[in-house]
Amino acid sequence: MTQGLPWKGELYNKRKDGSEYIEFAIITPLRQPDGTISHYVAVQEDITEKKRIGQELDKYRYHLEDVIQERTTELHAALDSAEVANQAKSNFLANMSHEIRTPMNAILGLTYLLKRGGVTSKQFDKLDKIDSAASHLLSIINDILDISKIEAGKFSLENTDFNLGAIFDHISSILKEQARHNGLTIEIDRNDVPEWLNGDSTRIRQALLNYVSNAIKFSKQSTIYIRAKKMQEKGKKVLIRFEVEDSGIGIDPDKLGQIFDAFAQADTSTTRVFGGTGLGLAITRKLADMMGGEVGVESKPGQGSRFWFTAWLSLAQGDQPLPSSVPITEAEQILRSEYIGASILLAEDNLINREVAIELIKSTGLSINAVENGKEAVQAISNYAYDLVLMDLQMPEMDGFEATRQIRLMPDRQSLPILAMSANVFEEDRKACLDAGMNGFVAKPVNPDNLFSTLLKWLPKPENINRPVDAIDTLNEDQPVDEILRAQLSNIKGLDMESGLRNCSGNVGAYLRLLRKFDDLQAGDLNRIKDSVNAKAFDEAIQKSHGLKGAAGNLGLDKISQAAKALESSLSSNQKNKIKPLLDTLTRELKQFHKNLNAIKSPSETEKFESKPSASLQQTLTQLRDLLSTDDAAVNDLFETHQLGLKNTYGDVIDTIRQQIENFEYPEALKTIESVCAEYGIPSKSGDENNVNDDGDVGMQLSKK
Ligand code: ADP
Repeated sequence: MTQGLPWKGELYNKRKDGSEYIEFAIITPLRQPDGTISHYVAVQEDITEKKRIGQELDKYRYHLEDVIQERTTELHAALDSAEVANQAKSNFLANMSHEIRTPMNAILGLTYLLKRGGVTSKQFDKLDKIDSAASHLLSIINDILDISKIEAGKFSLENTDFNLGAIFDHISSILKEQARHNGLTIEIDRNDVPEWLNGDSTRIRQALLNYVSNAIKFSKQSTIYIRAKKMQEKGKKVLIRFEVEDSGIGIDPDKLGQIFDAFAQADTSTTRVFGGTGLGLAITRKLADMMGGEVGVESKPGQGSRFWFTAWLSLAQGDQPLPSSVPITEAEQILRSEYIGASILLAEDNLINREVAIELIKSTGLSINAVENGKEAVQAISNYAYDLVLMDLQMPEMDGFEATRQIRLMPDRQSLPILAMSANVFEEDRKACLDAGMNGFVAKPVNPDNLFSTLLKWLPKPENINRPVDAIDTLNEDQPVDEILRAQLSNIKGLDMESGLRNCSGNVGAYLRLLRKFDDLQAGDLNRIKDSVNAKAFDEAIQKSHGLKGAAGNLGLDKISQAAKALESSLSSNQKNKIKPLLDTLTRELKQFHKNLNAIKSPSETEKFESKPSASLQQTLTQLRDLLSTDDAAVNDLFETHQLGLKNTYGDVIDTIRQQIENFEYPEALKTIESVCAEYGIPSKSGDENNVNDDGDVGMQLSKK
């Protein structure tokens, strides 16, 4: 301390307990009037804590950069591991979706085929239930996947030109039945919204479907309004508000705030009554958000709700194609009438999926060959000019991506439409398909309407189809032939042709085939009814007459339907004395119809009968022969599918074969088929339709381009 001057500084001391502490001290001398120092005044403060904080601050000040570096590294590591986890989640979802969709494909596809294949009304009912349960399950899986994709940022919108009216039509065609079931009508008001727009039509439809299906679920006996309204226009962009209004149960005001959150349901107790996952609205909100819009709802309990969302869309640039886009439900009809004989190659390794796709496509009259992996597909395509390829992605030996890349290297296969057929639904999968050179995508499980409309979209124009000369059959009749058939059908007594035709979408050729099929089966049905009555198995007799009544009714065979109905009710009410005369009436009606139907001649059928059997029918015959020679029970289904065509071509001997196959007398059936083959000069070795044979030939029915 400098003598006589004030001092300040830090003092390092020890407490009694031995711990150290730091004091800040100011010591000032007190002087007497004569200048001498008599006292010192000391002010002291314990600054141990301040000091510590100061040092810490210094450390941060001087090491800030190091700390930032350290933290950044930690954050990167955390981000990496989050991304790895997210990636793992996405991969898991993709795998799970694939794993679930593959069996769903079998369930939905086979149910669809069974329903079409002539079953009793009870069986039809059960199949219908399987179908709706499976579709419901699929929609839940789809919702979960959608929300995960959106959250993982793996969801992007596609922009294409679309017709707004078509979206509304599609929605009402999907939900019409369900609405009617709840006593609801759907009204659509498009106001001043332009019809021809550009945006992601699939997602707009999805968002609207969520609203409309909720409206149907939560209301009864009233009208549901679907509206679109133009809110703003900026250059080529328009903000559209979509709105769905119902007069249903409504939502409590205190629940309205969370209703758009994922998994939120207004009343969890209603879940049991109404079902649902609480994902629909959350998805709609995210979709609207991605389209630059918003969502909202106004609702009063007991009075109803009005859900809305907005979306920025563009006015479509190109001209609207004429006629405007085909309603999805008509696609099958158009394939049937205009694309018969178009050749499709299917590459798919899963046996059941292959069968489902083959049956679906064959049912439209298109011809299809199948191979089991990419390598075979490449070979098949280098040999033949197919009109379109359906390509599974994951296959043994060579996957669909590599196969497509190789096909695109071929000089004359650049514009061949190749559609990926896969249960993988992630954006990156779609992108990978396009990158490999594929044109489009058919999601599994295959929805028949979807498949048909996608085929229609990608197949070359009918006039450019590589049609084998002998593929034309009655389905492809032109107008005059239709007229001749109509005139003949309308002369049949007890047949309401117009109502029957309506059930076949107006396709006379298809109608005639169904009438023939009915006629073909009716004798057996009648015999079974008689047998059941004789055996006093009345339940079975009732069921059979009920089936006959329905089938006849659908075809406009009013007299037969009425006779079957009368029989059914006398059986049900046990009026024994009436059964016999009513059975006689039914027998008479069926015989009369058989006679009338046989008198009908279609010009093309006459020609066909005289002409050489088509290569595809020959192929069917040889397939049947092969299956019979290995006692393979698949022969029953194959025969069932083709029996009409076979009978038209080969005549009554096909009835014999049918009886033999139905009674599982395979060796006898084989002999009969062999005799037919010999008669028509069909060689004994066959090409397997589903496989590329040893010579690298694919099937027999396609002409080489
Ligand atoms: P989900 O219908 O599968 O439960 P959503 O996200 O579509 O899932 O709907 C969430 C909830 O919002 C429903 O459970 C229901 O409580 C309520 N909700 C949605 N739409 C309506 C409506 N039109 N009327 C009444 N309540 C509705």
